[in-house]
Amino acid sequence: MSNSSLVSYTRISPNKTSPRNHSIDTITIHCVVGQVTVERLGEIFAPSSRQASSNYGIGLDGKIGMYVEEKDRSWCSSNSTNDNRAITIECASDTTDPYAINDKVYAALIDLCVDICQRNGIKKLVWSTDKNTRVNHLNGCNMTVHRDYAAKSCPGDYIYNRLGQIADEVNARLCGGNTGTTTPPASNTSFPQTPFTVQVTVPDLNIRKGAGTNYVATGKYTGKGTFTITEVKNGWGKLKSGAGWICLENADWVKVNGSASDTSFKVQVSITNLNIRKGPGTNYATNGYCPKGVYTITDTQSAGGYTWGKLKSGAGWIALDYAEKL
Ligand SMILES: [Zn+2]
Repeated sequence: MSNSSLVSYTRISPNKTSPRNHSIDTITIHCVVGQVTVERLGEIFAPSSRQASSNYGIGLDGKIGMYVEEKDRSWCSSNSTNDNRAITIECASDTTDPYAINDKVYAALIDLCVDICQRNGIKKLVWSTDKNTRVNHLNGCNMTVHRDYAAKSCPGDYIYNRLGQIADEVNARLCGGNTGTTTPPASNTSFPQTPFTVQVTVPDLNIRKGAGTNYVATGKYTGKGTFTITEVKNGWGKLKSGAGWICLENADWVKVNGSASDTSFKVQVSITNLNIRKGPGTNYATNGYCPKGVYTITDTQSAGGYTWGKLKSGAGWIALDYAEKL
């Protein structure tokens, strides 16, 4: 079990149970009730008389401190069962309601949650506004709050009201796709022999330069549509277009089709003013006219009463109603 490489200050607290008795599958975010540094938080957790700690803390400047290693259980959420399975994070906050955290703390919190999920195999954060769903981990819910276990306002309404947004931002960084924080992730676990096609059902699936969230995102999203995958590695698929790799594991976002080996065909374009569009529909921007000639179509979709064909060249889509299939 590793610790976060984002940590810049470590002061291990004696207030812990070593090792934890459950694998890490939950994140519990707390508010410090004080705009403190990571060093000050280390001082607070240092005396054994304090009987309190957290795995990580985020200082008011956005620095991240570690006080209990991930292999160990922190004493943070007033609940042994929760803290044995959770990574606990204390965030520097205001001292009064709604215990707001600043933008640096928020940004560091997103980074830290992404890192925790990646290293511990958590594919998606799932938040629920229903306490029963949270404490019983129903529907894949894997975020809990201190107020579930003690008469406390922690994590404060500022954080509490943003936990769905935090899940969305973390999930977008993990795999792309910004949808559904309250439904469990369904997983694609097996894939046909390559090449095969997938239907992407969310507009914002990240394209990355390699097969994993540790690879940098290209800054581009797939958009909705059908894509041909030429190689699969660790649940990631290489786009035939050469644009990069996409995560195939989330079945809510990606439907896996069969083999794509025989789906391409040729068409003759005989008119001079056939638009090439950036997507399958007249609502997509044009990308110039398609010169007369023979073209290979690798994918088709219906939209707006037309059948659209994707040009193998990658230039875009054309309305096949104005072309002749060869
Ligand atoms: Zn707390």
